[in-house]
Amino acid sequence: MSEVLEQLARVLGERAKRDEPLAPYTSMRVGGPADLLVACRTADEVVRTARQAQAHGVPWLVLGSGCNVLVADAGVRGLVILNRAEQVRLADDGTVWAETGAQMAALSRQAVERGLGGLEWAAGLPGTVGGAVVGNAGAFGGDVATNLVSAQVLPRDGAAAERPGAWFDFVYRGSRIKALPTHERPVVLAATFQLRPGDPQALRAQAAEIVTWRRTRHPSGATMGSTFKNAPDAHAGRVIEGAGLKGYRIGGVKVSEQHANFFVNTGEATAADVLALMRHVQDIVERQFGIRLEPEVELVGAWGLPNEK
Ligand SMILES: Cc1cc2nc3c(=O)[nH]c(=O)nc-3n(C[C@H](O)[C@H](O)[C@H](O)COP(=O)(O)OP(=O)(O)OC[C@H]3O[C@@H](n4cnc5c(N)ncnc54)[C@H](O)[C@@H]3O)c2cc1C
Repeated sequence: MSEVLEQLARVLGERAKRDEPLAPYTSMRVGGPADLLVACRTADEVVRTARQAQAHGVPWLVLGSGCNVLVADAGVRGLVILNRAEQVRLADDGTVWAETGAQMAALSRQAVERGLGGLEWAAGLPGTVGGAVVGNAGAFGGDVATNLVSAQVLPRDGAAAERPGAWFDFVYRGSRIKALPTHERPVVLAATFQLRPGDPQALRAQAAEIVTWRRTRHPSGATMGSTFKNAPDAHAGRVIEGAGLKGYRIGGVKVSEQHANFFVNTGEATAADVLALMRHVQDIVERQFGIRLEPEVELVGAWGLPNEK
């Protein structure tokens, strides 16, 4: 490990794990080691840790639950800040504030239990509030953009500031933050949503229905959720299925027989297998339908690809 990384590791103390494999921190269960990894339990800790990395000139990025990333087999150079800041506050007027390491599904559940409507769409959604804000996660007609009032954002250099929802320039599964390379992104520290009072029993029934839908329609096992975004006039899963690719396998990863936009790690997949399958699916679909599917999942870490930042 380089001297500067060693210095940062010493400053971070016992919390810092060296050469920590990242696969267990991702839903796909692939990915090599981070030079350093620190789990932060509060937003203040995230800020302090990011500042320390910045002061040492060490590249760093934030990971939530790793449900929307494909981490390279070579891992991540620099520091990975694992966001486990999970404080949540729900007010009777429907204002919901959450640190971004909180799970979206848990936030949705708490809101429903409190009789607050608006986040039912996130019932059972894997991942953290931070990952959801950055990717404008959505389902069942709802998304983050619809509910987010504002969020506290920490730039790479400078003080954290409260940013209104409009600042994020949300688009389908994207935001101004997601448009930046991972090592240049600001951190979303906390998010404020505006919900509305509703009938707890009806909200509970709706959320339960959504959870059941997910359980029955989504393949179980290690996946990244939807691999590709839906194209403007084509449902990604349907065109992949239409191209005859259900069950297609490269190494330890295959296109799910149940839902063609989900790739399943059969146990021994590498990140290179997953990327090769993504490229293959993109090429075959393009050849057959003239549509180049755009990945929804992000490549993170040392891929050694051209133009990598
Ligand atoms: C089975 C399954 C079903 C899914 N269903 C859906 C669905 O219905 N709808 C949907 O939209 N998505 C779905 N997903 C994808 C995933 O749940 C979402 O994208 C989720 O919001 C990702 O959150 P995360 O914490 O895992 O983010 P991560 O994968 O950890 O991070 C994603 C990106 O955001 C960045 N990031 C994370 N936290 C922060 C932060 N606090 N500040 C700045 N950057 C940050 C990371 O650096 C990374 O670039 C599904 C995934 C799975 C595995």
